[in-house]
This record gives sequence, C-alpha cells and structure tokens, in this order.
Amino acid sequence: MKLKNLVASLALAATGVAGSAVAADVPVKIIAFNDFHGNLQSPGSFSGHPAGGADYLAGWIAKLRAENPVNSVVVHAGDMVGASPLISALFHDEPTVEVMNMMGVDISSVGNHEFDEGRDELIRLQKGGCHPRDANSCMGLNGPFTGATFKYLAANVLDQTTGRPLFPRYVIRTFSGVRMAFIGMTLENTPTIVTPTGVAGLNFNDEADTVNSLIRTLRNQGVNAIAVVVHEGGAQAGGPIGGCVGFSGAITDIVSRLDPAVDLVISGHTHQAYLCDLPVSNGKLVPVTSASSYGRLLTNIDLVLDTATRDVKSVSARQVVVARDDPGVTPNAAIAAVVDHYAGLVGPIANRVIGKIATSVTRSTSPACEHQAGDLIADSQLAATAPSGFGDARIAFMNPGGVRADFAYASSVGEGDGNVTYGEAFTVQPFGNSLVTMTLTGAQIKTALEQQFVGCTNNQPFNRVLQVSKGFEYEWDAKGGACARVVPGSVKLNGVAIQDGQTYRVTVNSFLATGGDSFLVFNEGTDRLGGAVDIDALSDALASTLVPAPTGTPYVPPALTRIRQADPTTGSCPNN
Ligand SMILES: [Zn+2]
Repeated sequence: MKLKNLVASLALAATGVAGSAVAADVPVKIIAFNDFHGNLQSPGSFSGHPAGGADYLAGWIAKLRAENPVNSVVVHAGDMVGASPLISALFHDEPTVEVMNMMGVDISSVGNHEFDEGRDELIRLQKGGCHPRDANSCMGLNGPFTGATFKYLAANVLDQTTGRPLFPRYVIRTFSGVRMAFIGMTLENTPTIVTPTGVAGLNFNDEADTVNSLIRTLRNQGVNAIAVVVHEGGAQAGGPIGGCVGFSGAITDIVSRLDPAVDLVISGHTHQAYLCDLPVSNGKLVPVTSASSYGRLLTNIDLVLDTATRDVKSVSARQVVVARDDPGVTPNAAIAAVVDHYAGLVGPIANRVIGKIATSVTRSTSPACEHQAGDLIADSQLAATAPSGFGDARIAFMNPGGVRADFAYASSVGEGDGNVTYGEAFTVQPFGNSLVTMTLTGAQIKTALEQQFVGCTNNQPFNRVLQVSKGFEYEWDAKGGACARVVPGSVKLNGVAIQDGQTYRVTVNSFLATGGDSFLVFNEGTDRLGGAVDIDALSDALASTLVPAPTGTPYVPPALTRIRQADPTTGSCPNN
C-alpha cells in the first residue's frame, strides 16, 4: 500500500466512510448455521448449556449482528426443514419458515431434506400459499403463509426439461460498494438419500464443477469475493467444537477441487461442529465451517474485504453456543409468541398417549444390525397391510435410516413412565412416507437383502441393513463378496425357506418402494397397492395389537433373532 493511500484509508476509517477509489477495509460479518430441521423449541442441552429454540437463536443472531449492523448477512446451509419435530412438521414446516423470516435469515442453500415433500412443495415454501391438500396449513399467528423472505439457492439442481436451476445459483450482496457472491447448493448425492418421487425430473450435479463453472461469470460482474454455501460436510475424529482434528469426509474432496477464487466454504449435512482450513485446487487454504445442528450453534465469521482488490483480505471464524442461560442475550418475544401459538395447536395431538412400553425400545443394534425399534416399526407396517384387501402382506422391510429416535421409557411431557405419546412416535418416524405393498419373487427378496451391503448397489461406506417383520429371518456373512453375502438357504418365512420362483406380498415405505437408499430391486415390484402413512401404521400398532393402549399390558420388545451374522465380530451397523 502506498503511503498516500494509507493516509487516505485511515482518514476514511476515521469518518466511517469507505470509498471505492482508494484502498480501504470493509468488515463484513457472516452469521452461519445449518441443519436446523425445524427445531423451533430447544432440543436440549449442548456443550453444558440449555441450547437452541427459535427465540434464543434469534436473540443470538441479533446480538452478533449488532457487532456489524451495516454489513451482516445470515446464511443457512441446508436442511432447515424436513425430519423436523411435530410442531413444525404437522404444518409442513411453515412455522420454521415464518420464524426464519422473523430472525432475518438472508440466504439458504437447499439440502437433501428440502426435497422430502417434492419440488412443488419446496417452491411453495419459497413463494408462499397454502398447502394444496392438507388443512394443517396457513394457520399462522400473523395470517396466511406468505413464503420465505430469504432466498433459496440451488446452483447444482437443474430441471431435466429446461436445464435451468430450480432456484438461483447465487446471490450477490454489496458491502460498502464491494460485491460478494454466495453460491448455494446441496450434495450431489441428494437423489440417493431422498424419496425418489421428491427429486423426480431434477438433476443434481457435481458440487465443485458447479462452483468452478460460475467463477468466470462472477468475475465478469466484478465479483472477486466468493463464498460457497453447500449442504455437504465432514467430521472430526473426536475434536472439540470449533476444532479440526483428524478431519475427513466428502467436503474435503469437494474443496480440494475448488477454484482458488473461492474464499470461504460454509458446509453442513453431517450435523458436526468444525472450523477447518482446507486446501483448494492450488493448495491455498480456505476456511470451511459447520455449526452442528438444530439451531444450537452459530458460526460467527468476520471477514475483511479490500476495496482495491474487491477481494477477501482475511477471514476469522469462531463458534458460539446458542445458550438459553446467558443473561446477555434477549430471546425474541415475537418469535416466542409464534412458537407458543403452534405449540398450542399441536399440544393436544402430540401429548396424546397412544401406547405403553415396558422398557425403552431402542436403535441399539445386534451384531447382525437388527434393532428393537426397527422390529416394532416393521411389525407395525406388516400389521397395517397384512389383512386381506389391505395388501395381503406377509413380510415388511424398513430402512434403518428412517428410524430417527428411540422410544424412551422415561416420561418426557408428563405422560408418565412407559407411556408413548403421538409426539414421541412422530419423532421416531417423522417423514410421512406412505406404505406400499408389492409382489416380489423369492429371488427378488434375496436381491433386496444383498443390496443392503456395501459394494452391491449400496455405494455408501456402511451397510444399510433393513429391519424385518416377525416371522422373516436370514443369516448374512460379511466375508461374502459383493452381492453374495446372504447365506444360501437361510432366508425363511415362518420357518419355511423362501423359494426363488415363488411370489410373496411385501410391504415397504414409499421411500424404498421407489428405489430409495439404492434398493433398486424394489422398483421391480408388481401389483402395487398404496397403504397408510407410516406414522399412522405405527400409531395404530401402538394403540392396539402390538402395544396395548395406556391401560393394557406394556409392550416388551422381542429378542433380536430375526437377522443373524455368520461371524458377529465383523461388519458395522451405524444408525444411518
Ligand atoms: Zn442433509
């Protein structure tokens, strides 16, 4: 910097005015979070504090914004909605969009869960309007649902017909005369983890290629400062909040291929808390952040823009817990009123006791990857579709990733120990998938079992072992090769070996029925019959035959003997 310019910039700094003719620093604050998942109410404690809740999240955002009221931007990196608690999900996540508007979110990339209810529903969340079919919509405290005031970004999500992105690829914000771009996107693998009907007609492109293809366009618009907001992430190997210890994950490869024009990456999806510096394509280190999940943590990013280069000069980031016990933070009363309003609407539904359990029914897996919660859900889906005329199902399969929580024995909302409320059941099964009963051959059933394991159609680094209904059993051997891990002759229904050429009526949810989690063989099922929504099947089961309602005999989970592993010391079963 020449002395003359230095003097000029000092003078400008003193008067608080930044011009573009001379070099000056423009401080910009980015307040970032990810994976809110509709957590309007505190999901519990985090890092030793009661944490989260939309009222305190807004309070913390306001406090951080006050540090730089002129040049602040609030960014969310995907999965704001979907897989959310009943208070948001019952109203199609309209409550979440409402409070995000109120707390001043500016930008959100789409995540995989933004596609849970399909593209039309996501467009409705952006543009507003009431749900086309469900009456649980447009019940807001402040009038009908008018959509998000923040901008959804979807740079790598293209309409297959038009080739156009579903939402804008980026937004450009101007900070004291310096333009900065925020490119937003979801993970390329979104179609492998969302109900296929939710992403029909859309292509999901490579994240790094998408960013790199935009650099020239942005440069031509005079933009040198570039942040990427991407719903994909990684994890530390046991490092602290805000650390970067033993970091790995899909985001590492993406960042390594980015054009060096990128200055900052705000990531998500893994629900992890990290602040890393990772190399882009020329080895330059770029900050990569992720703020856990559920509105419990914020990443407070201060960057300095240089008016001469119009580029990012420095970035510093730290993370703050959204603590509810900090006297320096004022919860947002208007947002609290909105949350209370929805809590009042949903309370009578959520707190209704629908069944009784003798012990917690958990997702703790056996060595063969079976768990109690999965058995209960598979049994509920069989019960709902077994009767003649309702599917004639004999077998039900449940994807393990769709079991989102344990059934806790302990009382949570004063319902009493052992009582299961609708709200608790909903937390276990929040996706609203419907049941589909189909005809499969014995050979196709065996193929479905093979597709659970790494290297067959499953391209994930872990097995996805389906939870199976009562009467179905088999054994698998981790030492078998790809598509050859099911022990021949071990697949049985009520003690009788499944025959390759015989047909069986099988129930799965709509996610699996359309090939979700790469279970491609379910696409081949014939004579399809649609059934109840999964939560209704579970709720009915809890209320009746499987788990007698409050006054009846509590449900005792069965021993985990439906699935066996030849050598129980091998293989892994994450609750993915
Ligand atoms: Zn995600």
